[in-house]
Amino acid sequence: MNQNLIESLINIVGVNNILHSGAEKNRFTHIWKTDIPLEALAVVYPKTTEEVSEIMMLCHRNKQEVIIHGGVTNLVGGTETQKHQLVIALDKMNSIEEIDSQSRTITAQAGAILENLIDATKAENLLLPMSFGAKGSAQIGGVISTNAGGLRVFKYGMTRQMVLGVEAVLSDGTIISSLKKIIKDNSGYDLKQLFIGSEGTLGVVTKVILRLCEAPTSRSSAIVGIEKYENVVNLLKFLEQNLAGTLSGFELMWKRTFKAMTSEPSHLIAPIAQEYNYYVFIESLGSQAEYDYKRLENLIGQALEAELIEDGVMAQSERELNSIWQIREDVSILAAQANYDQHFDISIPIPLIGELVDQMIFELEKLPFVECIFPFGHVADGNIHFIIGKKENNPEIIDAINFIIYKPLKEIGGSVSAEHGIGLHKKEYLFTSRSDEEIEMMKTLKKTFDPQNILNPRRII
Ligand SMILES: Cc1cc2nc3c(=O)[nH]c(=O)nc-3n(C[C@H](O)[C@H](O)[C@H](O)COP(=O)(O)OP(=O)(O)OC[C@H]3O[C@@H](n4cnc5c(N)ncnc54)[C@H](O)[C@@H]3O)c2cc1C
Repeated sequence: MNQNLIESLINIVGVNNILHSGAEKNRFTHIWKTDIPLEALAVVYPKTTEEVSEIMMLCHRNKQEVIIHGGVTNLVGGTETQKHQLVIALDKMNSIEEIDSQSRTITAQAGAILENLIDATKAENLLLPMSFGAKGSAQIGGVISTNAGGLRVFKYGMTRQMVLGVEAVLSDGTIISSLKKIIKDNSGYDLKQLFIGSEGTLGVVTKVILRLCEAPTSRSSAIVGIEKYENVVNLLKFLEQNLAGTLSGFELMWKRTFKAMTSEPSHLIAPIAQEYNYYVFIESLGSQAEYDYKRLENLIGQALEAELIEDGVMAQSERELNSIWQIREDVSILAAQANYDQHFDISIPIPLIGELVDQMIFELEKLPFVECIFPFGHVADGNIHFIIGKKENNPEIIDAINFIIYKPLKEIGGSVSAEHGIGLHKKEYLFTSRSDEEIEMMKTLKKTFDPQNILNPRRII
């Protein structure tokens, strides 16, 4: 049976585009787990949407479970596989088909690497405003399937806001194509939305059209130290009111995290004293470098006088700007300091963040096996990440930490996943963000799109 299936797959993709009979062990399920060989029936590398469709028709007929692989950078176990499952890897569907500078769109196959799309648009003086640490590996199909966020959501929105068109293949091989460059289309249900953020459970994304912006030509940045959380919120309002829509980054780091990022063994140097309770990284994008710099500098001066902030440093060169942002972006330094790390990605209404994070830290510190707690995040989006290090790892320890972080979220209208998704790792906590009725509706959608439950089974619900 398996041999027949493999032969049929070879007929579809060609003998050079499939790994099986042990060769699949040369792949892995995550970019951070390259030492663990992949367990799967086989890995297929289609080159066209039609091949994906034929593969899915075959799998549908044979009730064959499929796991979709993009850049395998997700943080929720979404690309983990089992021996009996077939992997569809989009790596070879990586062409950028068109950049239309008049419509300001880019059209690409789903396997195109995000960084390649960003660079290609830059060459046309356009901006694809998606940016996060994994951009050099993440594929646009994976980015869409996880509705990824990142560092500029506050100004430009999540991935969903940039998607104009999606082509996807359903579990029975049907190709659903909505590849239009238009911004407005209220002709009935907006079906493409179903494939954005549904983590490959409803279809294989094969092609996309994204909306682009004119590229800003100036970037000004500052880092400031703040004592009270309420002034973080006040500063956000103050900058929004005075930066005329150019505020593009407002990222928060707690003192303990800032210290860890800027003390040995980290090689990064603190541009400002390590004594404040909160650090905010500020970015403003514009088109008149000198004017934009002066305006931000002036506002930082006013914030100091009004005692919203205790201290502030402007980046005076490209090099300084990059080294300030490296402190915020290079958080793998924290993961390296944390034994058995657990990562969190929660949403909290902005005014409640200060008190709630203090309460979580207080409860976490009572757990004898917790070694370090590093909170930071996209505070202007109400999205906080935690990296928590432990002395050991076992299911009870994981549960005890999850309980402290996730328990308060339902009551305050927060979310267990702001951007990374649910995958396999957060399934048990979906109920903290979604009502029973919502979860039932998700199950109904899944049954409609994938009645045999063969596509990314057991993810999310
Ligand atoms: C260092 C680092 C930093 C990160 N920073 C951020 C961040 O700031 N913000 C953020 O939101 N996320 C962040 N992420 C996680 C982020 O979700 C992923 O990096 C990215 O969006 C996933 O793209 P991928 O191609 O790697 O998808 P994969 O990991 O391969 O897949 C993700 C999910 O989508 C499915 N999938 C993949 N391709 C397709 C497709 N073509 N069609 C249908 N389903 C598909 C997979 O089955 C899986 O369920 C980070 C990850 C890392 C490692």
